[in-house]
Amino acid sequence: MSSTTPMTPIPLSRKPAGQDLSGPRTACIRTFGCQMNVHDSDRIRRMIQDAGYAEVQRYEDADLVILNTCYVRENAVDRVRGHLGELGRLRREGRVKRVALTGCIGAAQESAALKRTYDIDLVLGTHNTYELAEFVGLPTMRETYTPELPGTEGEHNAFVTIMTGCNYQCSYCIVPTVRGRMICRPMEGVIGEVERLVAGGTEYITLLGQTVDAWRYEGKRFCDLLEAVSQIAPRVWFTTSHPSNMEDRTLRAIGERDTIVERLHLPVQSGSDRMLKVMHRGYKAERYRRKIEVFREAAPDGTLSTDIIVGHPGETEEDHEKTLELVEDCAFDSAYIFKFSPRRGTEAATMPGAVPDAIVQRRFLEVLRQIERNAFQRNQRKVGDVEEIYIRHGSTEDGKAIGETWSGHAVHVRTDAAPGTYVKARIESAGPHVLYAGEPSR
Ligand code: SAM
Ligand code: SF4
Repeated sequence: MSSTTPMTPIPLSRKPAGQDLSGPRTACIRTFGCQMNVHDSDRIRRMIQDAGYAEVQRYEDADLVILNTCYVRENAVDRVRGHLGELGRLRREGRVKRVALTGCIGAAQESAALKRTYDIDLVLGTHNTYELAEFVGLPTMRETYTPELPGTEGEHNAFVTIMTGCNYQCSYCIVPTVRGRMICRPMEGVIGEVERLVAGGTEYITLLGQTVDAWRYEGKRFCDLLEAVSQIAPRVWFTTSHPSNMEDRTLRAIGERDTIVERLHLPVQSGSDRMLKVMHRGYKAERYRRKIEVFREAAPDGTLSTDIIVGHPGETEEDHEKTLELVEDCAFDSAYIFKFSPRRGTEAATMPGAVPDAIVQRRFLEVLRQIERNAFQRNQRKVGDVEEIYIRHGSTEDGKAIGETWSGHAVHVRTDAAPGTYVKARIESAGPHVLYAGEPSR
């Protein structure tokens, strides 16, 4: 649970074998923001590998640095500015030679000023990332490096983009501006990619998009696609969903299909109908509650998470109380709580009724405490259960791996089992964010 989206480190990939690495041939990719950006970085990685670059993790070891950025909140931009400042210094020292900025900031107006201030060599948005190919010395490959291109294959888990962009116009959100309108990928393309990934050893498929449940293609709807994928892949999840598009049959499928992880991320943003209207979310709190009832009935053990914005312009104490009521009623297992951040070009950026920082902070903490209280109570119910745990990240120095139950709970478990495998272990204790398992029985 947090107020910010963490910067996601990208694992080091293998050095490209048999390629000419003479000259300026090391690159460092830094990813900021959501899973869509992590997935885009995978495509960028393919390009730099094809161009003969070896990937390195430190800026000072890189000839080329690519910052793949997020624009959703102002602090994301501030963080990127910090990195650009550091890169300017390394460039003056002759250590880094070229800097490229891609992703959501690249698609925003502000990017022109950043390019000038920090003397960035190349700025690309989310729709023309393929132009990076030319920049790194490959022929322009518009067709090859489109969303159709799969990410890294052969990993134990993989993201599969099923749609890009978004057709909503939420008052606060910059995504439709920087990612464009929704484009759904054809069903055959998605299925073909899932089949290839599974044949190559991928265990866990996550279907990805800003509003995945809005996916439609030639009469097929998201639930049809999810069911088809769940028959091919051994383990499936999807994110992010929009409450207005979420069908009851999808919620039931989560409970019925053995291969779908019983974990639902359904952003609500606010519990106040008045605020939901101001935000243009297209549903009322009661409709959201009904969806959650269907989910809880379909998957009583499953986990539910959400996104909540506190301090949107015009949010009153009464609106905030309604959010707290909804949080209590839905008993979320976790939540991303965001303080409103004005994004230039969005409707909310110029709305009257700004909420003072001190009030935003208090509301943030009140929502957070309530979420943690509920999550802690729900997690306690798992203590004593023996669970099949999928290992997501292998053990670190402390000997603990991070896994996930079929109910979508995160678990710390003492094992050296490899990522992508399963262990069975008893849950010994639980905190608000994570369960702790004993030694696996195997
Ligand atoms: N498409 C998803 C949906 O509608 O639920 C969410 C995508 S958005 C990248 C992720 C989350 O960031 C949103 O659910 C919202 O809570 C938060 N967010 C977006 N814009 C924001 C802003 N201007 N200030 C604060 N939080 C924001
Ligand atoms: Fe942004 Fe709303 Fe689209 Fe989500 S649904 S990406 S919050 S505009």
